[in-house]
Amino acid sequence: MMDRIEQLCVAKGMRMTGQRRIIARVLSISTDHPDVEEVHRRATALDARISIATVYRTVRLLEEAGILERHDFRDGRARYEEAPEAHHDHLIDLATGRVIEFRNEAIEELQRRIAAELGFRLIDHRMELYAIPLDAPAHAAEEREAARAARTARAARREEH
Ligand SMILES: [Zn+2]
Repeated sequence: MMDRIEQLCVAKGMRMTGQRRIIARVLSISTDHPDVEEVHRRATALDARISIATVYRTVRLLEEAGILERHDFRDGRARYEEAPEAHHDHLIDLATGRVIEFRNEAIEELQRRIAAELGFRLIDHRMELYAIPLDAPAHAAEEREAARAARTARAARREEH
């Protein structure tokens, strides 16, 4: 049986190689917004020959086809999830990097109203909440901010190579 993402690929006329099929499967069963390196780790567990370049290419194709949605959760890594049928927003736990999905009708309505007041019809929006757990020590926020800045700098250096 084909996975959901593979079905969408076939419906869009994408040529599905064995490796692409595996990458599609990994993305279909992921619920945690993985980055390319994580997708690669999971894909190579199924087929060790899959290169990171193939994962990059496939993920980009899927994104261009509107099958995947890309997120930037400010840690210097692009994260991916299957384009959701119903909109949701994200809360990022800075203590653990965990991404929590939520939807709040009051916020949805407020955003529509703001757009309307400015003379627009709202088509789409993105919202990310960056948060630390209520019971985390106060100084932890600054340490995490410093760690995040270091990670972003590292990722920027990586991209230069
Ligand atoms: Zn999500």
